[in-house]
Formats: sequence, structure tokens, C-alpha cells
Amino acid sequence: MSRQGVAPGAGEPVLQLEGVEVRFPSPHGSFAVVDRLSLSVTRGEILGVVGESGCGKSMLARSIVGLVPPPGRTVGGAILFDGVDLVRLSPDERRRIRGDAIAVVPQEPMTSLNPTLRIGDQLTEVLRAHRPEMSRSQRRARALEVMEQVGIQFAGQRLAQYPHELSGGIRQRVMIAMALICGAVKLLIADEPTTALDVTIQAQILELFVRLQSEEQMTVILITHDLAVVAQTAHRVAVMYAGCIVELAPVLDLFDAPLHPYTRGLLETLPRRGASASKSHLATIAGAVPDLARPPAGCRFFNRCPHALAGICDAALPALEPVADERWVRCHRWRELPAVAAAAVGAAS
Ligand code: SF4
Repeated sequence: MSRQGVAPGAGEPVLQLEGVEVRFPSPHGSFAVVDRLSLSVTRGEILGVVGESGCGKSMLARSIVGLVPPPGRTVGGAILFDGVDLVRLSPDERRRIRGDAIAVVPQEPMTSLNPTLRIGDQLTEVLRAHRPEMSRSQRRARALEVMEQVGIQFAGQRLAQYPHELSGGIRQRVMIAMALICGAVKLLIADEPTTALDVTIQAQILELFVRLQSEEQMTVILITHDLAVVAQTAHRVAVMYAGCIVELAPVLDLFDAPLHPYTRGLLETLPRRGASASKSHLATIAGAVPDLARPPAGCRFFNRCPHALAGICDAALPALEPVADERWVRCHRWRELPAVAAAAVGAAS
């Protein structure tokens, strides 16, 4: 399932974020959890968005679909979907697009599925809302079709079951079926879709995303804290830290030559081939994501970065700079860092 780092149809943007800002109020004034973020996602691309929890990934997803929880709000920028600015649409217009052309797959299906309703009723409810012209039998036929598409066996039987009667993997497939049921999805946003699943089922669900992207030419934004997940599925990766993108690169480039110290830190937390489970379990990035209500003046990774230089790194927030084709990084010292790393290895040997 490894990706080549090139999205089919690359170049034709489906989604363009321009200076998107999500803010929450606080006693000291409002603060940004997504800070003037710009990004373009192309047709048929799987974009991985990675970072620790609290870095703004899920809030970015919620901003795209218009579901930032109050009192938070998307206060600035544009979210262009097929050229239409979603930020300027009415709540009703956004609701019509959400669940139809843009769909979301959540992290934990149990909290998104209604435990008191049969699976069939929950699937057909989406069609009732978005395809009122369909008859009852057409809705049922479409539910069966989409369940088979996402690999749910005994689909007829499943329609009559309740969520608690299904395994975690099948519940997640039901959520994906629900996202696809209208048959018009252009952009699928999956927020930690495999976190609650065991490794084998996780691999099957990721396989499914890759198949859907390739069969349907769907654009997928895959949000995860786990770089191993994007390694298997994404064409391109945006690494987020403290509300900002700190590195953006094709997946192979990111894994071969990460430029930002935070990306390197995340890669070091991945279990090494051959390492025992207990050793790989110990790898973490020391320190914590800064309090976004009082962000540092300079680089937001300053207090955790092994290469931080006082007077340079803490003087101003670095800009997200283009460094090569399709590669961007937000670090004052990215040009020197390979040399810094080599010198450290030399001194230690
Ligand atoms: S700007 Fe400085 S502190 Fe921030 S990531 Fe780069 S080297 Fe580290």
C-alpha cells in the first residue's frame, strides 16, 4: 500500500484554504487554534495532516465542514471548495454540502452512530435528508449497494442490527458507507479514523481509503497523530504544530529527508523495525505543545527543539517558506540543520 507521492490529477485544486483562522475567546482576549493557515488540496489526492493532539488538526477539519464548536469560530480567511467560499455560505447551504459533496468520517463511530437506531435507518436517514426524491425501496437498495462497496459482508443482515451488535471495524465501515451514500462525495475528511481500531483492522480501513480514492477519484484529507498511517496512504503530508503548518511535502520526501525538527521528532517516535515493543513505546518528544492562549513570540516549537537558538528562533514566528518543488518548511534554521545533525553525529563518534 505504499504511495508514490504523486497525486493523480495533481494540479487541479478541489479545496483551497487561504489564511484560515479559527479563534476561541478567553479572559485575556481571543486566541487562534488554527492560525492563518493556507493550503491547497488537489483532485484525487490523499493529504495526510499529522501532529500531536492540540496542534489544531481536528479544528482545521471542523472549520472546513463548518462545525467548529462554539464559542470557537472561523473568523478569517477563505475556504474555497470547487471555487465556492464555504465561509460565506449560510448554515443551510453548508449543511447541504456537508454529507453530500463533502463528507466526514469520525474517529469513534460509537459516539457518532445513534445507539437506539438500526444501521439501515441511520444510513437511509442521510438519503432522506439529501435525496428526498428517492423512494423507500430505492433508499434501501442504495444502502445495500454502498455497504457492499465498503466491504461489509451480509449487508442485508447488518441493516437490521444496532451499532452495539457490530465490531469496531464494521462500525467504522458503516460510517464510511454513510459518508458515501449520497454518491456525490468529492472530498472525504477522515479524522483519526483508525485510532480506535486494532492494527489489522486499521490496515484494512486504510486500504479501503486508498481503494476509494483510486476508484472514485475522491480527494481525501486524512487527519492523524500517527505518521505510520500517512506513510501507508497519503500522497502528501502537512505537519501541524500549535495551529500552524510547519512542514508540507510529498510523503516520500518527508520520510527520506524531514526538514523541520518537529517532523524529525515525530519520525523518531515511530517504532523501529526490530525494536522491542517496550523500547519503541518509550520514544516521545520531550515537553508539551505550548498554551495557544499565550503562544511564544517566536517559533512555537522553541521550548522543545534541540536546535533552538535564543535571539534567532525566539525573535519572530518563522514564515512557511518554499524550499523546493512542493516542499515548504517553517523554521529559521532549516538550511543549517543537516550540518548541525552531521556535526552532532561526528562529535558523538
Ligand atoms: S526555528 Fe529554531 S526553534 Fe524553531 S524549529 Fe527551527 S531551529 Fe527549532
